[in-house]
Amino acid sequence: MKTLGIMGGTFDPIHFGHLVAAETARAAFNLERVLFIPTGQPPHKVNYKVTDPWERSEMVRLAVSANVGFGLSELEIVREGPSYTIDTLRALREALVDTELFFITGADALRSMLSWREPEEIIALTKVISVSRPGYPLQDLFETIEQYVPDHQDRIFQLKIPALAISSTDIRKRVKEGQPIRYLLPDDVKSYIELRDFYRDS
Ligand code: ATP
Ligand code: MG
Repeated sequence: MKTLGIMGGTFDPIHFGHLVAAETARAAFNLERVLFIPTGQPPHKVNYKVTDPWERSEMVRLAVSANVGFGLSELEIVREGPSYTIDTLRALREALVDTELFFITGADALRSMLSWREPEEIIALTKVISVSRPGYPLQDLFETIEQYVPDHQDRIFQLKIPALAISSTDIRKRVKEGQPIRYLLPDDVKSYIELRDFYRDS
């Protein structure tokens, strides 16, 4: 059986929080690869204008290219309409029959997953790796999950990762305010943001 990690996100922009989550999960669960899948139109991000999907994807490409254990998939961008995780997981499940899928998600995203489409289906199609994230406690989250999916013991795993209080929202804000973003994300991504003049009037 092959193993594949799936790291979904808006990645606007990708940062070291995403990369450390993927790499820690890859090592802990012996995953052959982690596929980063930038969203096309995120259904839940309505209060700010998300950067063009191909540009977000380009930043992911720059960030993951140095790691042979990482890859990029543009399947959510190519697909029309809003990006629902469940559609992506179904497509991967069908395409990769002999592969065990691991869905990697931060504690905040897992919490909102309960309000996404068909959370039980997500757990049925993949094993979920719930990584720690500063500011988002896992404890009461698991009590909530208990109510939705009682038999989740061998389907959802908690993984403690090095705590990085970095978010894309904060990076966009910093760019807008002229604060430094160096050491929060890969240098190549920082250079690309400057080259394309992203986030300065976000
Ligand atoms: P935004 O502030 O725009 O929501 P974000 O930093 O939360 O951006 P997303 O693209 O929304 O990044 O997140 C993609 C995935 O990465 C989610 O599962 C999220 O929980 C996880 N993640 C993001 N930042 C971290 C971090 N610092 N530590 C652990 N997990 C993280
Ligand atoms: Mg987020």
